[in-house]
Amino acid sequence: MNQGLIERAKALGADDARLISTDVIVVEPQLIELCKSPGCEGYGKSANCPPHVMSPKEAIFLINNYHQALVFKTHHSPEALLGEKHHREFRKIFLICSALERKIARLGDYSPFGLGAGSCKPVFCEKSPCAVLEGGECRHPELARPSMEALGVNVFKLAKAVGWEIHRMVRSSDPGKIPSAMLMGMVLF
Ligand code: SF4
Repeated sequence: MNQGLIERAKALGADDARLISTDVIVVEPQLIELCKSPGCEGYGKSANCPPHVMSPKEAIFLINNYHQALVFKTHHSPEALLGEKHHREFRKIFLICSALERKIARLGDYSPFGLGAGSCKPVFCEKSPCAVLEGGECRHPELARPSMEALGVNVFKLAKAVGWEIHRMVRSSDPGKIPSAMLMGMVLF
């Protein structure tokens, strides 16, 4: 099954994927401070973003309920991730994540839980307010997920644990000085 899941992730568009024990995943509560405005445009605007999403403490409890995770990454140009249309790049992670959730759910007695990258708000709801925060239901329940960073997962430590190159990048970064860029997603199961 394991190799099949990795191959499936690649067939869906991931550039690489690994199966890991959830013991490798580090949650650091202070990391969600990085989401705060002006850190991320989704902060406070989506049910999947801090401070509305589950807390790091709840995330640790959630992760500890799973034994393994399928981690995947997609490569992007730094220019694309820092450009005006960067939401299109992030959308790819959500699409792969939900497809892998469905695949894993079909395999047996699992309740997979996917985590994406970035906020679902600019990717799926753009200028509309988050329907969940308005008391309704998510417009894209099959696709919208919290990001790893929204739960306090240390994505840098995770990337290094699986041997992937990762470079820090913020909105003000000069894309010409970033050697490579990627986004990561994960499905717990
Ligand atoms: S995708 Fe769902 S959770 Fe995300 S902003 Fe839209 S309605 Fe809210």
